[in-house]
Amino acid sequence: MVNKWTRNVLGRWLPSACALCGAEARGGPVCGQCLDDLPRLGSACVRCGVPLPSAGLQGSLAGTPVPGVTLCGSCLREPPPLARCVAALEFRDTARALVHGLKFRGQLPFARPLGEVVARSVAERGPVEADLLLPVPLHPGRLRQRGFNQATEVARVVSRLLGMPLASPGTATRRRSTVAQTDLPGARARRRNVAGAFQVDSREVSGRRVVLLDDVMTTGATLYELARTVGAAGARQVEAWACCRAGPPHAGPESPQASPSPGGIPRGGLGEGLQDKASGVGRPTLVVPR
Ligand SMILES: [Zn+2]
Ligand SMILES: [Zn+2]
Repeated sequence: MVNKWTRNVLGRWLPSACALCGAEARGGPVCGQCLDDLPRLGSACVRCGVPLPSAGLQGSLAGTPVPGVTLCGSCLREPPPLARCVAALEFRDTARALVHGLKFRGQLPFARPLGEVVARSVAERGPVEADLLLPVPLHPGRLRQRGFNQATEVARVVSRLLGMPLASPGTATRRRSTVAQTDLPGARARRRNVAGAFQVDSREVSGRRVVLLDDVMTTGATLYELARTVGAAGARQVEAWACCRAGPPHAGPESPQASPSPGGIPRGGLGEGLQDKASGVGRPTLVVPR
């Protein structure tokens, strides 16, 4: 009993080996250097999070907010059901290792660095204007099989760091099993796969600004379907945050970077925060315990 208590208390202070580089890490599974070196997503479309490689604000500025509003050609043609999308990392290397470790090997502590980078990415963009954090649900069968929902694990960390309420369990449920999205070849097949997949309790989301949270966003089919369902259940605004943005870089016929007409922005959709990054007014306090 005493030994267990001592171990628990000391465990908070004693260094352990960083899961990524083996160096000393305190207070988490990843050392500060590896946390800083995670492949942050640079310029990206504000509505779908797809990287915009030609935005010209990469390199040293990668991961910092891009002044102004930027939309990809695809979102200009067909706006997604998201007012905004913030993806923290590119889905590669150490970021992929953390996501896969969490999801497939049950390394629950990896939720912490992943949640930290999501919270950082969001905080860098300005004040959080949302009421509820809703992790993308797993089908009950898969949840039983895995024992946890990786999106919920990350959402807990983000919720704590940004002081944002987490949706109560059962707010959204996946009512039918879907084939793993990664097994499907194209965006159209993925969209069909998730159509009608979710059920959302309107009492929980009605009139509220809801943030969906997922570990990896690829085509966006899953997040878009959940966003549509949350919107239909009465949410005032829906945006999405993701640890990683995978998927093809935008390759449409139009210029990947374009300034949208004012009409292209939904009422209240993008939030003043995007226009007001420089001031830092109202910026949430980001507490990252180390
Ligand atoms: Zn490290
Ligand atoms: Zn886009």
